[in-house]
Amino acid sequence: MRKKCLFSTFLTVFLLSSFIFSFPAWVIGSDEAMPIHNISVRFDLQNHQLTATSRIELPAGMNINLTLDHLYISQTKINGQVVETAEQEMKNLLFSAADQDQEIIITYSQVFEPGSAPYDLISDSGITLTDNWYPIADREMLFKLTVQVPKNFEAISEAEDIATFMIDGSKQVTFRFPHPLYAINFVAGPYVKTKETFGDNKTLVAYFFAEDQQLAAGYLQKARQYLERYEKLLGPYPYSRFSIVENRLPTGFAMPTYTLLGQAVVRLPFIVNTSLGHEVLHGWFGNGVRMDPRQGNWVEGLTTYLADQSFEADKGRGSTYRKGQLVKYNSFVRPDMDLTLGNFSNVAHNRSGGRPARAVGYLKSAMLFHMLREKVGQDAFINSLREFYNRKKYTPAGWSDIKESFESVSDNDLTTFFDQWLDRTDIPALGIRKIEVSEKEGTPFLSFDLIQQNKEPYELGVPIRIVTTEETILKRFIVSGKSSTFELSLPAVPHMLIIDPGYDLMRTLVNDELPPTWSHFLGAQDKIVIVPSEELENIYAPLLEELADIDVRILAADEVTDTDLSGSSLLFLAAGENRLSNSLFAEPAHPAEGFTLDIRKNPLNQDQVAILVSAADKEQVAGVAARLKHYGKYSYLHFVDGRIIIKRITESDTGQQYDLVSLPQGIDTSRSQSFQSIMAKLANYQLIYVGESHSNYEDHKLQLEIIRDLYKRDPNLAIGMEMFTRPTQPVLDRYLNNEIDEKTFLKESHYFEKWRFDYRLYRDIINFAKFNNLPLVALNLEKDIVNQVFKNGGTTTLSEEDRELLPIARDLDMEGYRQRIETAYLMHGGQGQTGDFSGFLQAQALWDETMAETIVDYLTEHPDKRMIVIVGRGHVNKDTAIPPRVARRLPVSQAVVVNSIGSQTERQAADFVFYSAHAGLPPFPLLGVMLKDLESEPGIMVVAVQPKGGAEQAGIREKDVILAIDNEPVDAVEDIKIAMLYKEKSDSVSVKIRRKQFLFGEKTLEIEVGIVRQSNKEH
Ligand SMILES: [Zn+2]
Repeated sequence: MRKKCLFSTFLTVFLLSSFIFSFPAWVIGSDEAMPIHNISVRFDLQNHQLTATSRIELPAGMNINLTLDHLYISQTKINGQVVETAEQEMKNLLFSAADQDQEIIITYSQVFEPGSAPYDLISDSGITLTDNWYPIADREMLFKLTVQVPKNFEAISEAEDIATFMIDGSKQVTFRFPHPLYAINFVAGPYVKTKETFGDNKTLVAYFFAEDQQLAAGYLQKARQYLERYEKLLGPYPYSRFSIVENRLPTGFAMPTYTLLGQAVVRLPFIVNTSLGHEVLHGWFGNGVRMDPRQGNWVEGLTTYLADQSFEADKGRGSTYRKGQLVKYNSFVRPDMDLTLGNFSNVAHNRSGGRPARAVGYLKSAMLFHMLREKVGQDAFINSLREFYNRKKYTPAGWSDIKESFESVSDNDLTTFFDQWLDRTDIPALGIRKIEVSEKEGTPFLSFDLIQQNKEPYELGVPIRIVTTEETILKRFIVSGKSSTFELSLPAVPHMLIIDPGYDLMRTLVNDELPPTWSHFLGAQDKIVIVPSEELENIYAPLLEELADIDVRILAADEVTDTDLSGSSLLFLAAGENRLSNSLFAEPAHPAEGFTLDIRKNPLNQDQVAILVSAADKEQVAGVAARLKHYGKYSYLHFVDGRIIIKRITESDTGQQYDLVSLPQGIDTSRSQSFQSIMAKLANYQLIYVGESHSNYEDHKLQLEIIRDLYKRDPNLAIGMEMFTRPTQPVLDRYLNNEIDEKTFLKESHYFEKWRFDYRLYRDIINFAKFNNLPLVALNLEKDIVNQVFKNGGTTTLSEEDRELLPIARDLDMEGYRQRIETAYLMHGGQGQTGDFSGFLQAQALWDETMAETIVDYLTEHPDKRMIVIVGRGHVNKDTAIPPRVARRLPVSQAVVVNSIGSQTERQAADFVFYSAHAGLPPFPLLGVMLKDLESEPGIMVVAVQPKGGAEQAGIREKDVILAIDNEPVDAVEDIKIAMLYKEKSDSVSVKIRRKQFLFGEKTLEIEVGIVRQSNKEH
């Protein structure tokens, strides 16, 4: 039960046995008289009972308050007089100060059956007494304990002096400890005792049960190493003995002179390398120097730093360890929780809701010591700790004593440092602004503002790494304001700036540094569990029970809104069968057996996580549900029959990264190949994408040549086109079959209304297909649906019929996808548009997924065909656009071709790059007017006339209505585009207009208009 909490269990001893009271009057200084508590105990193992007498010697002038309500009291005497008190009042006895020394004697008994108390047990397999087993005082005392145990038992308690006698066939042991304590503990059992020495002739003992005896040697060896390590680091171990004691109960406690480890704990193979060192170090801090409870708990942070963190640092993993701690802290602690380190005392590990407080008390505290070391330097850090240990050994100490040691040794005023880290509820949130790379005096020159986003700035030394093409520079920048400007000359072009790459600062991590984790979900403010059906809900009932005490909303799939999806952390039960999960992550590809917990970032909101859960049956869920809380740092977990098979943390950025200059990529032209030789390679693929910038004529010429070449090699060819939506397929087919002419085709497919680009860009390709009987496949989704998704921010508000048209499985979580779409979103004006990014992202994915689905449908029906896909360049990206979405659905060989014109091509974006000569279409023939469709009457309204254009010169005015071009009636803007398409060679056209006249009604005019030529690039 407590093995996960091992690092801190030392605390629990304090908590349960001592700090139960409001803080006591503290006995400071050794010259003051100290009460002495003599306890003598006998056991009746068969009946799990202890019978004991406590004799307390109370010095003159001192009062004491004793708590007894956990004991059966038979008699209480003070100075020989029986205290005649009603039983009720005996639960808590206050003895007032007197002029002379006083003697209190209490006789009592208690029963601890196996399983009746978490920390106490009396049985013939062993005795453990670590909680509420004698009268507890509100002040520190000196203890002397005498016990009688069976002769085959070994007995252990806090002691520097141990005396053993045999009396009547049993063993009597007396323990004396010369330093004041709040509480003592006692353990006994049929132990095998292994004794050695360490350091300056001190005693090292292992007490293990016979069945675990083979573990003793390993524990002794590692304990000796830890004792030596910390003696060297801090000074001599404060006691004459250290024992490792195995416990029948599951604990991980560190008491003065020994550590008490549960049987299940000692058997874990990693304990000797982790927790044992932590518990040994508590001999110096926690027990040697005690915690002054009025000043908060510094003990766990320091111990965690010098043990756990330090062991990882020994293996070169210090920064990874600290990052893990910061990720955890960032998941659980928010400034509005009002938790300060200065106020942290203790939180029991089994208390739910204690996670944020523990994160402050352990993680932030350990980071404080790390930052202190960074600030004063390694030597001063160690010397300060030595001075602190020496000065405060055997006495209570608080943060102010630590500050005093560090200030005197390092000769530094650390007031601000300690104040800000102990008293503030927020942690620094850093950023970079106005970052600029320029050229100064022959070298690159970098300037930037380092920003603190907090309301009040911190005083910080911020490590920043600058990665240049030649070397890496690491500097500490001291900041104390909200914005500080820094400038530096660099030896080479910088390509990245990284704030705190080694995790040396307690700070808010940015999104890219945070892997999606189970902790993130547990700590999220708004959490939704999405249930696909009641039947499936039942399978996951054990998990839902575990989640019951954290605040989650449980919703059916059809209750979830777009705002829920983009505003919360999500958990999808039965991910493979969950429609909403499929709309964001396609199929999760989880193993069919066992239980899988797959944590991703929510693609609609990177500050939230989305969790895909799959399970074979209810037993698989029940087998792990209660233990999942121990796997908080992972992103992917797979269990079979309750056993962990896979655990993984998704990669994330190291440090807060900013990209600077990226030098262009290049190709060695001596390696470039002829068109034919690349075509010979392309002929090996079944599915070939030729990406285009829609208005680049060069791209379309390249598409045609590739089609022509592949057709010659094998006429079994189809062409997929983004330019036509799926419902227009019948019109396309009729045109290809010569059932309609080009004009009708353009009109009925609404080419100019829906696609708008100059038809001449595609005309040769379409006519090539038509002439050679090649099928054209309309790939795209109706623009109207995509627009709705964009505007409404998701798909949940679409009509049932529209939703039917969408592919069910859509993957928004593809690596790199979001970044690519985000760049496009920002380039298209981002926030200025009606929809938000979440809608934009989903709309983009709908395009790619629909086209992928149409391609796959076609190739599945025509497996012998090769297909050339003609789409915009954004849709051909090898890693994130259509190709991986096709691959997910159908195994098919795919190649991506792009033209070099216009943009840099990354190696990962395409397979083949062509370099085309510049080419352009002759300008498109225009009238020189802006037009608008009329709703209720024939013709098209002129809304503006281009100055000095053909229309103006011919006398066409605003509000004229165009009725015909060269006697062909027109009724929509697209009709004029179609009509003008055929006027490429003409100088003028005859335009029939209707004009309203003031007072004289309407008249119809026939006007000859000179044609304006406009390049097709300027649409
Ligand atoms: Zn600890």
